[in-house]
Amino acid sequence: MTRSCARPGCGDPASATFGYDYAERTVYLDPLSEEAHPASYDVCRRHADTLSVPKGWHLIDQRRARTSVAGFLTAP
Ligand SMILES: [Zn+2]
Repeated sequence: MTRSCARPGCGDPASATFGYDYAERTVYLDPLSEEAHPASYDVCRRHADTLSVPKGWHLIDQRRARTSVAGFLTAP
């Protein structure tokens, strides 16, 4: 099942999922999850790249991290 971007007015296919960790004041941006979760939001690539977080919060983009890790064949 294909999900679409959660941003109002945007109907592009979702390519990433993000969720809020209120205790850590951190937003985690992950590759699109296989299943929709009530506490997370799907966004298209464009909106994922321009995602902004509340003041004082951190954004952890785990999409690029996983991509770069996959490039290191010597990684444990
Ligand atoms: Zn979008």
